[in-house]
Amino acid sequence: MPEKNKAVFLDRDGVLNREMGDYVCRVEDFEVLNNFSALKTLQDKGYLLIVATNQGGLAKGWYSEDELAKMHRQLKKVYSEHGVEFTDIFYCPHHPDFTGDCDCRKPKPGLLLRGIEKYNLDPSKSYFIGDRERDMTAATAAGVNGILVDSDQPLSEVLGMIV
Ligand SMILES: [Mg+2]
Ligand SMILES: [Zn+2]
Repeated sequence: MPEKNKAVFLDRDGVLNREMGDYVCRVEDFEVLNNFSALKTLQDKGYLLIVATNQGGLAKGWYSEDELAKMHRQLKKVYSEHGVEFTDIFYCPHHPDFTGDCDCRKPKPGLLLRGIEKYNLDPSKSYFIGDRERDMTAATAAGVNGILVDSDQPLSEVLGMIV
């Protein structure tokens, strides 16, 4: 049997870019955090880096798919300048008040399960770094190891928790 891949899933706001207290609606407000060398270390250890983020602001009409794509281009560009490549960015565009229930809005594990399926991941060797309890709930439900950080905490401080 070919060996499965491993990944570090990453929440977006408060982990990769500064937490603004609510959805980031404009690319001008999107401030990338300096976790370049921490993520490069994980990448060099063979982890795929996959973003998993709730974007219920789409369902609320606070920003468009186009604006979100701009933010994600910015995120990828800045990290790529430091040698870090994100394999994929999964986002939930739903919000229960506007689009009803879905299976991907965290604390549901849908975004992680999509990543596990698409990239043939071994969940037990994969991690999810997030700054909210709902991220940890999603991690547990998907069978991956959850790592709870404070918002905007440098990821270098939790590298030791990843084998
Ligand atoms: Mg967050
Ligand atoms: Zn969803």
